[in-house]
Amino acid sequence: MQKGTIGVTTENIFPVIKKFLYSDHEIFLRELVSNAIDATQKLKTLASVGEAKGELGELNVKVSINKDKGTLTVSDCGIGMTSEDIDKYINQIAFSGAEEFLAKYKDSANSIIGHFGLGFYSAFMVAKKVEIYSLSYKDGAKAVKWSCDGSPEYTMEECDKANRGTDIVLYVDDENKDFLEQSRIDGLLKKYCRFLPILVISGKEQEWKDGKYVDTDKDKVINVTDPAWMKKPSDLTKEDYLNFYHDLYPGQEDPLFWIHLNVDYPFTLTGILYFPKIKNNFEINKNRIQLYCNQVFVTDSVEGVVPEFLMLLQGVIDSPDIPLNVSRSYLQSDAAVKKISTYITKKVSARLEEIFKSDRTEYESKWDDIKIFIEYGMLTEQKFCESAMKFVLLSNTDGKHFTLDEYKTLIESEQIDKDGNLIYLYATDAIAQYNYINSAKEKGYDVLLMDGQLDSHFIGLLESKLEKSQFVRVDSDVIGNLIKKDTKKEVNLSQLQREILTTESRSQIPAIEKCEFVVSFEAMGETDAPLIITQGEYMRRMKEMAAMQPGMSFYGELPDSYSLIVNTDHPLVAKVLNDADANIASEVSPILESISSKNNQISELKKDNKTADEIKQLESEVSELRSKQENLISEYASKQAVVKQLIDLALLGNGLLKGEALSSFIKRSVELL
Ligand code: ADP
Repeated sequence: MQKGTIGVTTENIFPVIKKFLYSDHEIFLRELVSNAIDATQKLKTLASVGEAKGELGELNVKVSINKDKGTLTVSDCGIGMTSEDIDKYINQIAFSGAEEFLAKYKDSANSIIGHFGLGFYSAFMVAKKVEIYSLSYKDGAKAVKWSCDGSPEYTMEECDKANRGTDIVLYVDDENKDFLEQSRIDGLLKKYCRFLPILVISGKEQEWKDGKYVDTDKDKVINVTDPAWMKKPSDLTKEDYLNFYHDLYPGQEDPLFWIHLNVDYPFTLTGILYFPKIKNNFEINKNRIQLYCNQVFVTDSVEGVVPEFLMLLQGVIDSPDIPLNVSRSYLQSDAAVKKISTYITKKVSARLEEIFKSDRTEYESKWDDIKIFIEYGMLTEQKFCESAMKFVLLSNTDGKHFTLDEYKTLIESEQIDKDGNLIYLYATDAIAQYNYINSAKEKGYDVLLMDGQLDSHFIGLLESKLEKSQFVRVDSDVIGNLIKKDTKKEVNLSQLQREILTTESRSQIPAIEKCEFVVSFEAMGETDAPLIITQGEYMRRMKEMAAMQPGMSFYGELPDSYSLIVNTDHPLVAKVLNDADANIASEVSPILESISSKNNQISELKKDNKTADEIKQLESEVSELRSKQENLISEYASKQAVVKQLIDLALLGNGLLKGEALSSFIKRSVELL
């Protein structure tokens, strides 16, 4: 019998393994099964070149539990190991500076295992003793038993083993007894091994008998050895792709599209990515892209490997070239990984363009679902943005879809303002903004619907990409001002009329929390609404951004500021003015004259610094006159049902009339009838 000390430079590697690798300890099974698969595939390769002779027999990998002995065994019929092999591959854990390394990478068990060939030793995370029984495929090889109880000492001796291959026997320690439950092992095998290329068997198929499940004689197969992504796209039907998707993510709706990835230079990568139909956030987090390395599941956190916007996709990526056993930060700076990420992005945009070109109807019908991927991608990936400019769609309020070029052509003739800017009108809520949309359409304009989660950012992006183009929300100004033309009609009001109309309107706006109104005048023609409320594009965008970005809370605190625009062409407004002329103009007029003469006096006096007291006196007189004028007009206005009614109608059109104000509007409306 050979005795020895495992070649590690640290005092004792096992406590370290147990301690640092504790959080991820279930991966021991992945490591052991992967080794068994490797050994089996090596044997197949050797047989194919004639180096391994004789019958290969069934080449399954078996995971079995013996509860009485407290053991878990992984068996294969692969190449096996001679005592020399064990010496070389198992006894020499060849690395120096182990402690330093472990300290550096202690966050990630994965980083230590694999990187330093510690796969096999991960068995000690759950076992107090590990035995290897192995018979090499080599002619005349003798079976060997290796045993180690978690100290750096091992024993190695000849033993009886009739079949070629290796059994790894784990004496599961007390804290890890759950690994002796078939259901626990089944769960792990399903997670890590369901697509391994060699059949993996564990336990027996069960059947329902006399009110409970009992084992049958039939071995339970864990995996599918030829998953869809390993096949040629030409050998797969639409059904195959859908079935594979539903295998991966049971209970999901059919995906929208898929992309079969297949590249072998300058790196090897296969996989299938699906565009899912996203219903809620919960599903996004649960059903993520799975990363495999030669069909062994590694992780479903693909940060760094796929660009952020594609994290919303689902499916499988399989590549031996992704250094999966290193830390995340390293991964992101890895050149191969960058290439892979770029490749995937390119593939995705090529596929989208292909579907767009070959089946526009299909593409449009799924647009609402894929829009979020595409906009997110355009916002976050420069390269993707460039190619997506060709197939990103804009939807208008009639539900029609356009490419950017098509839409430009559509609006080019009507929607250019006097400075040559192309104005894209948009609505964010087709129902709430119905009135504004309608009047824009009546004018021959087209209105886009931008009601997606990312649309406010997307608008900013388009403005930066499209030349001389501006996006303007349809309710941000009166229609004549949305697209400013040279032929604007002047407002024809005297100073007195302005004063009266302004005060009349402002005094009758019901108090609305955190809302401010500024009254202004436009000559919009007799058929446009008499009063209209708009919210400026700039301030609204700032406030929207503030809501999403903590650093901009200053804007968020500001009240919403609206314009109350009076259409001086409208007959009802003319009537309001006429009534005022007849009733209060004669009273207001002298006050206004006196205000303006006092103001003139003030400006004269201001040229001479010595008369400060006199200025003060005049100023207080002016403010007194002002409030007198205001009271007079407000008092009068409060009796003008028409004024109130017009204001409330405008508020109503904007969804601003609520609560008490709304109920008095309804009451007044009934009275007016
Ligand atoms: P890695 O697999 O990363 O090389 P391991 O510690 O898992 O590191 O295994 C070390 C070596 O031991 C393997 O490369 C292989 O040569 C050998 N080995 C492990 N398990 C088996 C097995 N079941 N059959 C044959 N050889 C094995």
